[in-house]
Amino acid sequence: MSMPRDDLPYCQCNWFERAAHDPDCAVEFDPELNEYNLKTANGGSMRMYHCPFCAGRAPESLRGQMFATVTSEETFRLHQLTKDLKTEADVREALGDPTHEFEPGVVSQSPPKEGEPPIIKSSKSLSYDQHSDSATIDVTVGRHGKVSITFSGKYIGKPTGR
Ligand SMILES: [Zn+2]
Repeated sequence: MSMPRDDLPYCQCNWFERAAHDPDCAVEFDPELNEYNLKTANGGSMRMYHCPFCAGRAPESLRGQMFATVTSEETFRLHQLTKDLKTEADVREALGDPTHEFEPGVVSQSPPKEGEPPIIKSSKSLSYDQHSDSATIDVTVGRHGKVSITFSGKYIGKPTGR
């Protein structure tokens, strides 16, 4: 996945605005997040970070402002809570029923390489909202029941005051 290059200036040619208004162009503007996405034929979308015309950066996303900040103390507490959980059974015993369960929850695709098909990985995932005021615990379950656990700031709504 390409990330925005901070050394490039923002797009100056207004390609994003024009593309988003062009019904023949598969670019869509998400006003809630201030992001531009390329729609794919299967109904998915890919975030666009750079202008394909002038190579400038896409407008700043508001994504970061929509999630609660997880303090380092809270991260420490959540780490202690989850550090010994190795399998899905451990997680369910310690944390209870997940708030959400997705199957598949995580799908990733390797970047294309010359002469090779992309490798697609899929995993079940569980998320828990009930163990922290600020963080969601995200659990990715591997094929052999082993888990990897991450924390993310909870959704707190649309940014205001802009
Ligand atoms: Zn541009």
